[in-house]
Amino acid sequence: MALFNHVSFDDHEQVVFCHDKESGLKAIIAIHNTNLGPAVGGCRMWNYDSDDEAINDVLRLSRGMTYKNALAGLTMGGGKSVIIADPKTTDREALFRSFGRFIHTLGGKYYSAEDVGTTTADIMIAHEETPYMAGLEGKSGDPSPFTALGTYLGIKAAVKHQRGLDSLKGLKISVQGVGHVGYYLCKHLHEDGAELIVTDIHQASLDRVATEFGATVVAPQDIYTQDVDVYAPCALGATINDTTIPLLKATIVAGCANNQLAEVRHGEVLKELGILYAPDYVINAGGIINVSFESDYDVAKATAKVEKIYNTLIKIFEQAEKDNRTTGDVADEMAREIINAAK
Ligand code: NAD
Repeated sequence: MALFNHVSFDDHEQVVFCHDKESGLKAIIAIHNTNLGPAVGGCRMWNYDSDDEAINDVLRLSRGMTYKNALAGLTMGGGKSVIIADPKTTDREALFRSFGRFIHTLGGKYYSAEDVGTTTADIMIAHEETPYMAGLEGKSGDPSPFTALGTYLGIKAAVKHQRGLDSLKGLKISVQGVGHVGYYLCKHLHEDGAELIVTDIHQASLDRVATEFGATVVAPQDIYTQDVDVYAPCALGATINDTTIPLLKATIVAGCANNQLAEVRHGEVLKELGILYAPDYVINAGGIINVSFESDYDVAKATAKVEKIYNTLIKIFEQAEKDNRTTGDVADEMAREIINAAK
């Protein structure tokens, strides 16, 4: 299990492996870059098939946070943590107390928060052991509605750039995953007049969006082949890959999931096919933007900053078109300029 020559290692500043026999905690904390400030990024709890899969995930996710925080204009570095365990584990108190104690040993170099498989309640437990937790109940709270708002505005920016339209009325949008963010995203899209085609592996979540927003439900494997204008990946990562790209009829890929491209080269494949891709870490920054206002929480200020995602994406789309480059490439370069200037 080599780290420094791992394919996803990207000059990460610090990677911490945490084990506590008593609680059964197995976690990895990755601090990618702190040029802009303390590293901030959520904690994912997942049944990884191997340690290597967990390492790969935490290395990629933490790097993504550095770029995300930089382009969102935040004075925060990038980090992320993963807990290797079944996200449905019911006995969570000892686990998250132990996790909180490990976070505390880093002395504020890394702040953790909720992510896939963890809840605000888990974060509150860890917070009893350390102040270095973000997205707390009674403060900025659930980041998902803000992530959804940013993603919705990102979809609008893509539609504006590609088709010159200011409304989503009559457009067909497929949403893969109608969980925390997906639900609120569907609400925005529905209110803007879009026709929704959704999938999930959780029936109750599907029933809710079908009832409330008139969404058409399809089986998980059928989401890629839908005749839609926009495909919004809002479940897990790597759904843009060699198998799925040839199936897509959408001319825009814009959703909230992290690490949507299985490999960087898939950004190039999308571009060659004329599919406009909204870089994931730019479009899904709404939640972390909201969290960044936590110390002196002001919903209006947080919302105004989330709304800037629209213009940031327009800038990226225009530059990519001008230079004949991928949108991911342009976003990375813009982020690196900010990170290096802060060194
Ligand atoms: P969530 O767990 O609430 O929702 C994910 C949904 O996807 C669930 O309903 C789940 O059942 C469904 N799902 C899982 N596998 C699926 C499959 N194979 N096919 C269809 N559906 C499937 O998570 P969330 O908080 O809504 O986050 C969704 C994505 O957005 C994640 O990739 C997350 O990292 C990213 N993200 C979330 C936030 C946030 O504020 N919550 C912020 C930034 C990025």
